[in-house]
Amino acid sequence: MNPSYSRRKFMAVGTSVFGLSLLLSRCRSKSSSDAKESATAIDPCTDFSGVSETDLKTRKKLGYVDQSPRPESKCGNCNLWLPPKAGKACGGCMLFKGPVHTTGYCTYWAPQSN
Ligand code: SF4
Repeated sequence: MNPSYSRRKFMAVGTSVFGLSLLLSRCRSKSSSDAKESATAIDPCTDFSGVSETDLKTRKKLGYVDQSPRPESKCGNCNLWLPPKAGKACGGCMLFKGPVHTTGYCTYWAPQSN
């Protein structure tokens, strides 16, 4: 066997393997950063993509805030509160569409009747 041929072949294969592993690691990095971006993009508590302009205006007109200024009055104990569905962090309100925090509040707050 010719030693120089063998060394050339070894170098060619080594370079190919190194290039391929570099390419794979870049693909893996991109995939994990994409996954992080999509994980933050689908947070249901900040997703207003399906909410109409009218509902956004109603929400604002009623003075909705994510954190109630009155600890004894919050969405979680309001009569118009719609509790979160299984596996969801946010609930809703009967007055408008869109995510509503348990700790939220608006000027229409009414005590639960039960
Ligand atoms: S009416 Fe106001 S306080 Fe009551 S659940 Fe809806 S947003 Fe919250």
